[in-house]
Amino acid sequence: MKQVYLDSASTTYINNQVLAEMMPALTSSFGNPNNLHSFGREAMGLVDLSRDRIAKAINAKSSEIYFTSGGTEADNWAIKGLARANKSKGKHIITSKIEHHAILESCKELEKEGFEVTYLPVDNYGLVKLDALMHEMRNDTILVSIMFANNEVGTIQNINAIAKTVHEKPNAIFHTDAVQALGAININVQDLGIDAMSISSHKVYGPKGAGALYVKSGIEIEPIIVGGNQEHNKRGGTQNVASIVGFGKAVELATQDIVTNSKRLRNLRDYFTKSVMEKIEHVHLIGHPVQRLNSIVNLSFEFVDNESVMLMLDLAGICVSTGSACTAGSQEPSHVLKAMNIEPELLKTSVRFSFAKNVTKEDVDYCVEELVRIVKKLRDISPLSRSVKEDK
Ligand code: PLP
Repeated sequence: MKQVYLDSASTTYINNQVLAEMMPALTSSFGNPNNLHSFGREAMGLVDLSRDRIAKAINAKSSEIYFTSGGTEADNWAIKGLARANKSKGKHIITSKIEHHAILESCKELEKEGFEVTYLPVDNYGLVKLDALMHEMRNDTILVSIMFANNEVGTIQNINAIAKTVHEKPNAIFHTDAVQALGAININVQDLGIDAMSISSHKVYGPKGAGALYVKSGIEIEPIIVGGNQEHNKRGGTQNVASIVGFGKAVELATQDIVTNSKRLRNLRDYFTKSVMEKIEHVHLIGHPVQRLNSIVNLSFEFVDNESVMLMLDLAGICVSTGSACTAGSQEPSHVLKAMNIEPELLKTSVRFSFAKNVTKEDVDYCVEELVRIVKKLRDISPLSRSVKEDK
């Protein structure tokens, strides 16, 4: 059976060049990078090469990159580590309602420790309201965390404007979760005014199990994983050398061909959206129409249950998601869509299609063809859909 993977926002395949670079770290160069002997030094050389590559890709210093096990850990660390280290300056934190759960749940933990968290609203497109941010900023605001691009709908925030607003207050640090933006958008942390940023390897054609937190030099952060002096004494635990090697190479490659790739992906995404809209009635694009990632399309198919669409597409060999991978299986409607004020009857009808570099026009055509069949079938048995037809 034909297989079409349209879920790159959950994870991507590993690029061949990335895999080739990883192999020595899994075989001959197996040393522990924290040992001072030759095997250790060789492994540390590989880790540091990755650190350099990642730093270069985002215009940071190598000493500002700390490796983690992925985006979730980087987010947890950013929120808890930055807040706890800076609590003498204030205990107010601002984030948005559409963040990844790694951010939202870390904030909830901090609330139990006596921090006060403001959750900013977004507009119908998923854009954080800048005036709301300005209004909520206080002298005791120590941390603002707003994601670069949303993983469910693809909306890209006005990061530069947000950073400027944050920095109007003397003690406020600006963190962004750029897990979905890395490799899709050119990120220059200095130009954009980003103080801390979470990134992850397996969204950019690298392996799972590696991520990083960028923390601008001079900013205090407390470790959350203790028990070792790795990562400049800030994150205990033996580094996942092979995954880190792959991560470094993946970031280097992804940032090299950002322009070519994004153009190709944009064409494919727009072709897909147009075809679906032409062939299926009552479909809505969720998210910002322009200011969004080239790789993500979130569509709502009125009168059909999104889980049913996802499962029926899977039977046809097509993999998509109904929300973020981390909340798959949850019966709760997406917190992102709810925050965007999407009509209640559309909340459980939205499907996320996300495109990797290897997706072809034929793959897209096959998906559209199957969608037409599946949506029709589901609407034929949907009482809601029938009552609308009878009303006409
Ligand atoms: N943040 C965002 C925006 C994400 O999309 C994800 C993963 O889907 C994460 C954080 C978590 O990253 P990881 O899977 O590397 O833990």
